[in-house]
Amino acid sequence: MGVALKRAGIHDFCLLEQSAGLGGTWWDNRYPGAHVDVPAPLYAFSFAPNLHWQRRFAAAPEIQAYMQRVASDFGLLPHLRLGRRITAAHFDAASGLWHIDTCASQGGGEQRLLARFLVCSTGPLSQPRWPDIPGLDSFAGRRLHSARWPADTAQAEVRGLRMGVIGTGSTASQLVPRLVQQTTPAGRVHLFQRTANWVLPRLDRRYHAIDHALARLGPWQRGVRAFWYGVLEWGRRGFDEGTLARRGMLRAAALHLSRQVPDPALRERLRPPYPLGCKRIIYSSDYYPALTQPHAELVTDAITRVTPAGIVTADGRERPLDVLVCATGFDTVHLLSSLRVTGLDGQTLSERWRAGPEAYRGVSVAGFPNLFLLLGPNTGTGHTSTLPYIEAQVQHSLACMQAVLQGGHRWIAVKPEVMQAHNQALQARLQGSVWTQCRSWYRLDEAQGGKVVALWPGFTGEYVRGLAQPLGHSYGFG
Ligand code: NAP
Repeated sequence: MGVALKRAGIHDFCLLEQSAGLGGTWWDNRYPGAHVDVPAPLYAFSFAPNLHWQRRFAAAPEIQAYMQRVASDFGLLPHLRLGRRITAAHFDAASGLWHIDTCASQGGGEQRLLARFLVCSTGPLSQPRWPDIPGLDSFAGRRLHSARWPADTAQAEVRGLRMGVIGTGSTASQLVPRLVQQTTPAGRVHLFQRTANWVLPRLDRRYHAIDHALARLGPWQRGVRAFWYGVLEWGRRGFDEGTLARRGMLRAAALHLSRQVPDPALRERLRPPYPLGCKRIIYSSDYYPALTQPHAELVTDAITRVTPAGIVTADGRERPLDVLVCATGFDTVHLLSSLRVTGLDGQTLSERWRAGPEAYRGVSVAGFPNLFLLLGPNTGTGHTSTLPYIEAQVQHSLACMQAVLQGGHRWIAVKPEVMQAHNQALQARLQGSVWTQCRSWYRLDEAQGGKVVALWPGFTGEYVRGLAQPLGHSYGFG
C-alpha cells in the first residue's frame, strides 16, 4: 500500500505498526523452523522481485529481511511508526476524516491522528489464540504460544527438556521437527493431536549461484514466477471433487504417509478424518519422520486438563512437562476486534460483524467510508500465495482514494445492497464446498452457524478481475 501510494504521488501517509519491527507475521512468528509454504518466487511482490532467495520455501527471517529491503528501497522507512498501536478509530462524516487514537505499544504516549483514509492490514493471522483447556493458567513450567516465541536464545533453549506441543496445523508441522532435533539428547517431545491433517511432500531445494544469476534475467525470473502461479492455480482444482488434480493429491498424500511412516498403527493415527483441502494442507517432508523418532510421541487421547506439572489426557495419564507450546493458531473470526472501529451512525465494526465478518470483495464495508481492508474477510486462500490478492486489494483501494480526491468528495463507501449481493453469492457458492466439512480457522464454529468467513473459494485471476471492475456501480460518495 505504501509503495502504491508513493507511486501515485501520495506522500502524506504514515504506517502504524504495533511491533518493534516490520514484517507482520514474519516479524512475529520466530518459532524454530518457521517458513513459507508456497514457493518463494511467488512470495515476492510483482514489482519487487527478490533475486536472493536461499531456498524455494524461504525461512521466516529471510522473508522479513526481504520486506525490510522493500521498505527501504521504496522509501517507506520515514513513514513508519513502529511500536505504535491503534486503539480506536471513528469516522466523522461531516469532515470525511478518520479520527485515529493511537498509543505506544508499551502503554502511554496517546496520540490522535486525523486521516482521510484508513487502511487496515492487520491480517487474519495476527491475534494468537490460546486453547480453552481447563487448568492452562495453572501450568508451572514455561508456557509459550508459537506466534510469540521468545527472541532471547537462553529462553528459547530446549535441549534436554520435556516439551509438550498442542496443535497439528501448519505451524506445528514446521516447529515439531526442529524441536525433535533440538531436544536431544535426554529431552522428549509430546505432540498432542486433536485432528490429523493432510500432508503432502514439500518439494524444497536450495537456490544456487546459477539460480541467482538466472534470476537477474527479467524474462527468466518472470517465467519462474508465472510457472509457480500456474502450478498453484492448478492445485486449486484439487479442492473440487472428481478432478484429476484431486485424485493426484490424494494419491500423493497416501504415498507420502505410507513411505514415511512404516508403523501401521502410527500411520492409522495420522490419517485425516476429513476431506482433503477442508483445512489448510500441510507441505512437509520432515514432519512424519520426526514423529517416528524414539523421543517423539504422538498423543491422540484427548486432553482433559493441564496441571501445574503437565498435561492429563482422557486415559487418565499425566505427562510431566517443562515447556508447554500452544501451536493453536489465531483468532480469525474476531477480525480487527483489538480496536474499536466506528463508522457512520455510530455503528462499530464488531456490531456490524456480529454474525461474522464480511465485506465487499474483502476490501470495503458498507457504513464504513474511506476504510479499506487488506486481507479482509473471505480473501484467504488454501492453494496459493496471498501476495497477488494483496496487490489487487491495494490497487482497488487506491482507485477508491483517487476517486475521492479527484472528484472533490469527502468520502466513498460501498453500497449496502452491493455488499449484500456479493456476500450472498459468495456464501451460496461456499455451500456444500469442501471448506464446510470440518472445523477450521476458515469458518465460524458450528454453534455460530459455521459460515466460512476467511476463505475465497475461487481462482486468483477471478478474484483479481473482480476487484479491477469500475467503481461506479458499487460505490457511493459523500
Ligand atoms: P491452525 O491451523 O489453526 O491449527 C491450530 C491447531 O491447534 C489445530 O491442530 C487444532 O486442532 C489445534 N487446537 C486448537 N485448539 C485446541 C484445543 N483446545 N485442544 C487441542 N488442540 C487444539 O493454526 P496454525 O498451525 O498456526 O496455522 C494457521 C495458519 O497460519 C495456517 O493455516 C497457514 O495459513 C498459516 N501459516 C502459514 C505458514 C506458512 O508457511 N506460510 C506457517 C504457519 C502458519 P483441530 O484441527 O482439531 O482444530
